[in-house]
Amino acid sequence: MQMYLEADVDTSCLSDQQVTILGYGSQGRAHALNLKDSGFNVVVGLRPDGGSWAKAEADGLTVKAPSDAVKGAAIVAFLTPDMVQKSLYQSVVDDIADGATLLFAHGFAVHFKQVEPRADLDVVLIAPKGPGGLVRRQYEQGHGVPCLVAVHQDATGDALGLALAYSAGIGGARAGVIKTTFAEETETDLFGEQAVLCGGTTELIVAGFETLVAAGYQPEVAYYEVMHELKLIVDLLHEGGLRKMHKFISDTAAWGDMISGPRVVDANSRAAMQAILTEIQDGTFARNWIAENEAGMPEFRRMMNDDLEHPIEKVGADLRGRMDWLEE
Ligand code: NAD
Ligand code: MG
Repeated sequence: MQMYLEADVDTSCLSDQQVTILGYGSQGRAHALNLKDSGFNVVVGLRPDGGSWAKAEADGLTVKAPSDAVKGAAIVAFLTPDMVQKSLYQSVVDDIADGATLLFAHGFAVHFKQVEPRADLDVVLIAPKGPGGLVRRQYEQGHGVPCLVAVHQDATGDALGLALAYSAGIGGARAGVIKTTFAEETETDLFGEQAVLCGGTTELIVAGFETLVAAGYQPEVAYYEVMHELKLIVDLLHEGGLRKMHKFISDTAAWGDMISGPRVVDANSRAAMQAILTEIQDGTFARNWIAENEAGMPEFRRMMNDDLEHPIEKVGADLRGRMDWLEE
């Protein structure tokens, strides 16, 4: 494992250079503001009719249409949704300077060949391991969110140095920047969100809720047990791993954890995880997701609707409304 810290990074390669951020959502806003506060020359590229234009200007940033924004930039960061990066790249490629660097926060578009960059460009990845809001907040407090760095194409020989300078500018180097590849970042990121973080966790919660409600328990009590209290456990894991969780839960909870956890996540679940990973690695997942986008996302909307109309959502909204200390 190779990790770069602030002391390993020379940011002088970025001084007097323009950094263009395309997109002003979760990551775009955080990167643009952090880089500006670090003293770099930032230009934001947005659609003139989009909702973010006024917001970026109100934040004190220079905003231009994407094809104007990329002109003269040493780094062009693609911080739009992954599925629009292909058409966005095609619309700005002729305006990007020779030898400039394309930067991504997730490897999907490059790894799955949605974007096939010009041969003269450097192509790098700086992937913060956290949402944009946290990237901004930690930076403002003098800390940073750790990042991954990768180089896909090194046309100039300076790709890694420039990527690391950018990671320092957004605060990531304060927490450490680990070297990876586009393939490793893309495949592990997709696997994590599908099998564990988003897909696995929400399905586990909903299945637990349905089991309790079907057995005749009150939905409100079930909600507290399987959704509300999850935060306590996740915070302990986040701060101190399995050890900290075991230190703070009761012996009864720890015993139940150890004898019952492996019955829920059993050989079948592990085989399903392996199948999910294989479909990510062989491109099946990417192909299907791109086709779903091209079809106008009918399945996405249908499944999202089912998720949002589940009874746990109704119970949860009512109960959360009574806990005025919760942040929306
Ligand atoms: P987002 O959905 O929050 O924001 C996207 C922004 O892109 C919008 O606000 C809009 O300003 C802009 N946009 C949309 N369509 C556009 C178009 N056609 N042309 C120009 N601009 C357009 O996106 P995000 O979650 O910040 O994701 C950006 C990148 O960061 C993605 O590659 C994503 O995988 C990656 N990433 C996200 C997170 C996260 O926690 N959200 C974490 C790590 C990496
Ligand atoms: Mg789900």
